Amino acid sequence: MNLRSLALLLLLACPLQAQEPTTQPTVELIVTVSVDWEGRSLDAANVAAMVDLRERFPKVPYTHFLNAAYYTHADVDAEVIGREIRKTLLASDEIGLHIHCWESLMVASGVTFRDQPTFWGRPASRRGGREPGHEVELDAYDLEEIRKVTRFSKEKLKEQGFELSKSFRCPGWCASAKILHAVRAEGFLIDSSATDAAWHDQELDGLPIHARIRALWPEISPLSQPYPIETTSGEILEMPDTGALADYVTGEEMIAHLETVLAAEKLNGLRFAHIGFHHETAARYGPRVRECLEHFADDGRIAFKTLEEAARLFRAQKKTVEIGK
Ligand SMILES: [Zn+2]
Repeated sequence: MNLRSLALLLLLACPLQAQEPTTQPTVELIVTVSVDWEGRSLDAANVAAMVDLRERFPKVPYTHFLNAAYYTHADVDAEVIGREIRKTLLASDEIGLHIHCWESLMVASGVTFRDQPTFWGRPASRRGGREPGHEVELDAYDLEEIRKVTRFSKEKLKEQGFELSKSFRCPGWCASAKILHAVRAEGFLIDSSATDAAWHDQELDGLPIHARIRALWPEISPLSQPYPIETTSGEILEMPDTGALADYVTGEEMIAHLETVLAAEKLNGLRFAHIGFHHETAARYGPRVRECLEHFADDGRIAFKTLEEAARLFRAQKKTVEIGK
């Protein structure tokens, strides 16, 4: 028997293995990656770190919570600012609004600056010649003042070519009912300030901001899903920042967080989760986000979406469930 006949005989003797059907895993989890732009600085190292992340993961859209304060500090070149920010953007991104109460931003908005209460407990100061205000709670201002700075921020960013979505994040995650009322009245329909203070236990222990986050969001956990909040000016959809931001969460913790949401038995249907980082610390903490994105890069159970797209999917799912009732 020649080799060819032997091979044929063996083939006939062994029934062919049934071909495994190739199945695409179903998407179970929508993850939003957000960036908080603090309005402090646009350092080359942080811009470069963001550009690097974007080049590595071009299919992951971001939701930027952009800050108009970059344009209100003394002696700034608007052209340079716009150019640096745009280096980090992809066409698939969403641009929402973040406010920190920098003195120049408040003054430009027609509001008298207040130096407290702050996240750290002591009044904002000009030590080292720095402009104060980043650390002041937005809740330090009254309703009309918050509306003014929100309106000014929108207009300023629009004038600089940034068309904002209807998504908002409060400074320090400290969104009081008054703030949600104010931003809803200014047209924002999605808030992403809710977070679990447990993420900050180590880094912010004993500081007023930690107690404030806990007091404002007592029910929020890493498993929290989107839910509506009634404000005096209408409903706002809360899309919790379930995984906080990278300054407080290691890459390993981000991975574990998303795996926990995927495995949570009490959640039904499409689930929603959130990770992110600050622009101003992107060089330092961007590698944590990179570790997480690398881990899930080819995981068909997860789809990365902007916050407004995630909100759309959440609303569509809710509607389907309601129709089915
Ligand atoms: Zn911030």
